[in-house]
Amino acid sequence: GGAAPLLSVADLQVRYGPAQALFDVSFELAADTTLAVLGANGAGKSTLARALSGLVPPSGGRIRFDGRDITAKAPDVIRRAGLVHLPEGRGVFPALTVQENLRMGLAVDRADRKAALERAFSIFPVLAQRHRQRAGTLSGGEQQMLSLARALMVSPRLVIADELSLGLAPRLVDVVFENLQRAREAGVSVIMIEQFAHRALGFADRCLILQRGVVAWSGPAEAAGDELLHRYLGEG
Ligand code: ATP
Repeated sequence: GGAAPLLSVADLQVRYGPAQALFDVSFELAADTTLAVLGANGAGKSTLARALSGLVPPSGGRIRFDGRDITAKAPDVIRRAGLVHLPEGRGVFPALTVQENLRMGLAVDRADRKAALERAFSIFPVLAQRHRQRAGTLSGGEQQMLSLARALMVSPRLVIADELSLGLAPRLVDVVFENLQRAREAGVSVIMIEQFAHRALGFADRCLILQRGVVAWSGPAEAAGDELLHRYLGEG
């Protein structure tokens, strides 16, 4: 038998009042794995992301993360357990410096703040060069980098990237993927919700397709072919 999965979701259900958005969603994610979550508009992708990170309470099911039951825990508890939801706090504070922005990613009395800063700077050397520069004067790509670096300050084991590239210029979409790749190289697992299905599949190890709140398909990313995408997303 292999190691226990990093994330284990069993029979997850989410309701918004009378409307049910997720029905018995179950899947597992191994450590050091990137999962692309795909599905048509309204399929429940963002709801899944919100339920995992505690932003909406599940009405049924269990979520285990890194050996703990995190079902219906508060977002801050889940974040401190090592599961970070992006773009939660996507914006940077323009009047603060790069370094001040990064420090806000940590609790005030965090003893290993220096180590966390050094880690962020080693993942994103550009930010080290610019640590005294006000965030508002960074380029769009650098601000995107800073936002992710700040989320990584808690050394998460899993990052949920919900449509990070939505509405971005193509060059910044490239930056998003480059940055997520750096996070991944630093040992972070990623759940990616992405409008560009082919791009997400080229990046991810695994794929899960939602359709009207149920898991319609899951498997290796390279096995999610055009016929499947066409059937569930109307493209490909
Ligand atoms: P998109 O790709 O359009 O962002 P999605 O796959 O992320 O869609 P969700 O945003 O999770 O889908 O929505 C799933 C279903 O839940 C939809 O039918 C949506 O209308 C409904 N829903 C989402 N948020 C709420 C809410 N706050 N209140 C009521 N219904 C909601």
